[in-house]
Amino acid sequence: MSKAIIQIDANNFYASCEQMIDPSIKGKAIVVLSNNDGCIIARSSEARKMGIPMGQPYYKFKNKLKQLNIKVRSSNYELYGDMSNRLMELLKKHCEELEIYSIDEAFATIKRPKDKCLYHWGKDLRALVYQNIGIPISIGIGETKVLSKISNHIAKKIHKNSGIFDIGIIENKDHYLNQIKVDQIWGVGKRMSAWLKDRGITNAKELRDISSVQIRAQYGIVGIRIKNELKGNSCITIKEKPPARKEICVSRSFAYPIDSLEELNQAISQYVLIASSKLRKHNQLSSAITIFTTTNIYSKDFYKSEATKKLKIATSNSAIILKQSLSLTKKIFKPYKNLIKAGIILHKLQSNNYKQNILFNEGNRQKELHLERLDKIIDNINKRNKKNTLNWGSSIIKKDWTPRRDNLSYLSTTTLESIPTVFAN
Ligand SMILES: [Mg+2]
Repeated sequence: MSKAIIQIDANNFYASCEQMIDPSIKGKAIVVLSNNDGCIIARSSEARKMGIPMGQPYYKFKNKLKQLNIKVRSSNYELYGDMSNRLMELLKKHCEELEIYSIDEAFATIKRPKDKCLYHWGKDLRALVYQNIGIPISIGIGETKVLSKISNHIAKKIHKNSGIFDIGIIENKDHYLNQIKVDQIWGVGKRMSAWLKDRGITNAKELRDISSVQIRAQYGIVGIRIKNELKGNSCITIKEKPPARKEICVSRSFAYPIDSLEELNQAISQYVLIASSKLRKHNQLSSAITIFTTTNIYSKDFYKSEATKKLKIATSNSAIILKQSLSLTKKIFKPYKNLIKAGIILHKLQSNNYKQNILFNEGNRQKELHLERLDKIIDNINKRNKKNTLNWGSSIIKKDWTPRRDNLSYLSTTTLESIPTVFAN
């Protein structure tokens, strides 16, 4: 029995999450904005049909959205992250191998039945996901990852297929591959696409049939892999374990410019606490910290600064990272500069399983254990209750420069207090 590769993609994911959590906007046109309510980053299919473009600044479309009665939501990454986890957990149960590719996309494998038809399996999975999570998905099936991606693309276009397409059971795929432009093929970047177009290769069929010598000379093994995958020979395997993170960056734009060290300290403290708890969540340690800030790039008084500190012993401890970060903040701060963004990067990450201590450091070990226990307690309390239930004093915000989220959905799936109350007589 042959194995099929499946590509699953949640449709208009952020917009679908918002519609799932708030039934009053189900089936209606909505858009989701980026951090600080800057740009339009997601549209429901209804908004897309009304001609609202992606990536455009919100202020330019504010009036038009109002006129067309299109609802607006600030991005709620906590909600999207939680919905993504639920989706992936469900998919894991119904597929053999699963590779989580992004917040709303996964690759999977499944054995083909005797009649080779996976349409009913796909239909059931789609119904199950919608029933349990309330989000529509598209399913692309093929012999390889590249073909399953193409299949998914087609699934979204052919409405009568109800979001499922299987290119793997089609003998002569030319008709479909002809319709896929080279820049729509997974793995073909801007440069490769321009190079191919210069040589008259414009679609997936032509790329599949390109001479191996020609593509290898320019793109080596990467090019050959894409060509082979298009031919149906699987070269890119499913990776069930995600590669370890190399760095963690937490940064935000402020709702309005800040110019005091006190405010910058508050912002950096907040980001440090988010970054260090992420580090612990992934069981990693960091041995280098970078703090950075910037004014508006177009301002006359443009200022940008960053500072890095290497640590002797890798850590994930909030108190240690906070102390170092605040001394770096002092270094990068310059008075009378209107800062619009700041952040922290934790780099030189390593696994916590192989922690290396410094010889003759026994005296500090006790203190370290205390700090580790404190982090654990804070993480658990914040996980069980609401984010920021317990936090460090330096991160308490006195003025509200935090990013603008004027249109945030008030409901979420991650805090007890936002669960709606139902009364029954
Ligand atoms: Mg998607």
